[in-house]
Amino acid sequence: MKNMLESPHETRSGWLKSGNPPGDLSSAARCEAKTKRGTACMCPAMANGRCRLHGGLSTGPKTAEGIEKIRQATTKHGRYSKQNNAETADYRKLMEDCRGILAALSCNGTVE
Ligand SMILES: [Zn+2]
Repeated sequence: MKNMLESPHETRSGWLKSGNPPGDLSSAARCEAKTKRGTACMCPAMANGRCRLHGGLSTGPKTAEGIEKIRQATTKHGRYSKQNNAETADYRKLMEDCRGILAALSCNGTVE
């Protein structure tokens, strides 16, 4: 009984049961985001310097696969895509040429 009073908790070391590295939570870096009260948040910070609540917006996809996935998700019809715009410009040029040829034919009856 006397032993329990002197050291109520056994000192533990090593990895946590969750697999996270051990460490003193009170010595972790602190989030310095400004709260509604105007004070610093002071929650434990992640690698980006902010806590889980103030982590900020996503920085977007980084891999080519992720970028393509986002492109597919945000494309509605592709009507104004780069490829479709180029195709439309080609057809317009072709129609202009045809109109020019038709105009030349109707004036002289021959193609110059
Ligand atoms: Zn915070």
